[in-house]
Amino acid sequence: MPLKKYLNIAPAIALSGLLFATGCAAASDLPTFDPAAFRAWIAEVQRKAVAKGMPEAKVTEALRTAEYLPRVIELDRRQPEFTMTFWQYFAKAISDTRVKRGKELLNKHHNLLSNIEKTYGVQPRFIVAFWGLESNFGDYTGSFPLISSLATLSFDQRRRRFFAEQLLAALEVVTAGDIPTTAKSSWAGAMGNTQFIPTTYRAHAVDFDKDGKRDLWNSLPDVFASSAKFLASSGWDRRHTWGREVALPTGFNFGLSGLETRKKLNEWTALGVTRADGRPLPDAGLEASLIIPAGASGPAFLVYKNFRTTMVWNRSVLYALAVGHLSDRLAGEGRLKATPPADDKAISMRDAQWLQRTLTDMGFDTGGVDGIIGPATRAAIRAYQNKIGTPQDGHADHALIQSLKSRQGQK
Ligand code: CA
Repeated sequence: MPLKKYLNIAPAIALSGLLFATGCAAASDLPTFDPAAFRAWIAEVQRKAVAKGMPEAKVTEALRTAEYLPRVIELDRRQPEFTMTFWQYFAKAISDTRVKRGKELLNKHHNLLSNIEKTYGVQPRFIVAFWGLESNFGDYTGSFPLISSLATLSFDQRRRRFFAEQLLAALEVVTAGDIPTTAKSSWAGAMGNTQFIPTTYRAHAVDFDKDGKRDLWNSLPDVFASSAKFLASSGWDRRHTWGREVALPTGFNFGLSGLETRKKLNEWTALGVTRADGRPLPDAGLEASLIIPAGASGPAFLVYKNFRTTMVWNRSVLYALAVGHLSDRLAGEGRLKATPPADDKAISMRDAQWLQRTLTDMGFDTGGVDGIIGPATRAAIRAYQNKIGTPQDGHADHALIQSLKSRQGQK
């Protein structure tokens, strides 16, 4: 689901790939629908679209069948119960089936992908990895009516400004003739094989097969070129890969992990970091950050600039790691060297909230108690770990919760 901005405003969507989709909002939490106010809103959108220079007849046609979809609001209000662990997420994102099919598709579309690499400078294995993660190579492009979904979300008060912008962008793409008024999307308006949101579609979709339409459903040349152009515009560097799994020395200072710390590869080497198989890191002046998505006992990765570019597409660290590792697997590399622990178990949102509340009460700022383990909560965990003298991996898991509970019990 592309675009950082989207995700900043929409944490539930940002995490939708990381959370088990469970539970629904209670009916009493859903807003009451006022049909007259909805029609007035559609009329206002229509005026805005025409004021932006879109042809009136086409705008009218596109909005004529716009409906309010209560199901979209239900999905928007959905509260997940569990976060996914790194290992659960990876097992789902990088199945053997997906790797096998991705390799076949990489081979099948070799000429087209090479052509696109020459034009935009993005290696084919990455284009295919994004394609696999976004829509399972085109299997899942969404079944909600695009215009009605965005009309509903823009009419709703929760994120009106953002979705009003998306609806206007969708109308621009529709009235330009790229896609039909009946186009289907995800419930939140993500479209086609690449699941671009409308503003990304408007800015980055490419008519690579030159048929006059930017079609991210039916034209693989358009799909691949659009992904490549989006990445190129976001800073992709064709000379390098995304990062790699690494091995850390005993006694490593985990306070150095996290995207906020950047060091050259030779500095990481000086700290004792090697490739996962023990060989030395490439002797390059590349800047890299260390990511430990499953805490001190899990795998470690050094990530480069293209990893940060991947996070422009989707700001989730796990998503970006999955794109990188899947692209390696498509190129024939093996599984991760690290292996999952026997007791890999996600913490519930309720546990995460307890953790945040407890750390806040102890004076560590978690940036709120929302049940989502983000940068502020990880920083608070690290500060706590620093205080008690355990490795500062900033990782929220059952062991951390147990240690906090037993410390509380001692008081
Ligand atoms: Ca086309």
